[in-house]
Amino acid sequence: MANFDHLSAELDQLRVDGRYRPLTVWDSGSDTWMVLNGRKVLQMSSNNYLGLTNHPDLKKAAIEAIETYGAGSGSVRTITGTLRIHDDLERELASFKGTEATLVFQSGFTTNQGILGSILGSDDVVISDELNHASIIDGIRLTKANRKIYAHKDLDQLEQRLKESGSFRTRLVVTDGVFSMDGDIAPLPQIVELAERYDAIVYVDDAHASGVLGRFGKGSTDHFNLHGRVHIQVGTLSKAIGAVGGYMAGSQLLKDYLIHKARSFLFSTSQPPSVAAMCLAAIRVLKNSPELTERLWSNTHYFREKLHKFGFDTGQSETPIIPIIVGNPAATMLFSDALLAEGIFAQGIVYPTVAMDKGRVRLIITASHTQEDLDFALDRLQHVGKQFSLI
Ligand code: PMP
Repeated sequence: MANFDHLSAELDQLRVDGRYRPLTVWDSGSDTWMVLNGRKVLQMSSNNYLGLTNHPDLKKAAIEAIETYGAGSGSVRTITGTLRIHDDLERELASFKGTEATLVFQSGFTTNQGILGSILGSDDVVISDELNHASIIDGIRLTKANRKIYAHKDLDQLEQRLKESGSFRTRLVVTDGVFSMDGDIAPLPQIVELAERYDAIVYVDDAHASGVLGRFGKGSTDHFNLHGRVHIQVGTLSKAIGAVGGYMAGSQLLKDYLIHKARSFLFSTSQPPSVAAMCLAAIRVLKNSPELTERLWSNTHYFREKLHKFGFDTGQSETPIIPIIVGNPAATMLFSDALLAEGIFAQGIVYPTVAMDKGRVRLIITASHTQEDLDFALDRLQHVGKQFSLI
């Protein structure tokens, strides 16, 4: 008999710490109002920023692709798994991002793993913001390159790390474009300037900036008008784009290299054609519907200003990701539970994902929240916030 006692001991410890969370099983699809245990609750924690999971163009594209190509792609990309729809998606994405090429992976997570795990060697160094996403951290774990961390958005420390790194063959600076737990934006113009001064590659993970920042949601490079100065842009197709997948936007050389060397690309079956078709349809929706990102941002500004008026601490938030800082992990989870009792789903996030005293419920505002939805959420947040002495 296998002995899994060490696993149950770890799970018991999570229970003791109040960090054991069974999965929440929803009885309806991703939307602003979702059914949980027979009850409709307002969704305030989904990454469906633009509501595209329910867009008719995406649904139609998926159904047509299944009829044309079948359900699955049947193989990895390098054998028989590159279908015309995958190529069409990569061309459309490259034109949207304004880069020479793009390469699509099965998720944002595997995109970071595939790129970071393959493009650097033991003569190189990767310099990473301490709050970068887990997929960047895991990608860095896979590389033979040397690693250096700089304090969150600390440009002096970044410069110091770059100064120390002169003897390496290649220096690569990697940052999230929008940080997923705090909703703050990386100081990309300053990072690019430093990288240019110290001859480093710039790599930005735009998972939470795709469909959110920049014209038509083109991402943080477009937001800061840094075209041609960011060498590797990673995007996800799983959040604002409404489906699932990830991509690298950059040079044709990089694409060619990754096709031959990125293990998560090489050894895993490609996106089902229906998924690629939805992503393609979503990019076309973005190009033709600037009002979606406009509404996302007007909803965001309205909501955050009201929270501030009430007196909530929303940390460093500058984007539709709005944390309400509670502090203590147990109080954070109780606050989240109390909101659910009032009809609002707002995920509690606690240590070790964030610092022990920085537990928060993380709200995500979307374009599909109506004025009525936002006002309902604000009313309930004010009510529960007072009960918890947060305001
Ligand atoms: N990077 C960041 C910054 C993210 O927040 C996420 C999603 N949590 C990912 C990458 C992974 O993207 P995906 O969900 O497409 O795997």
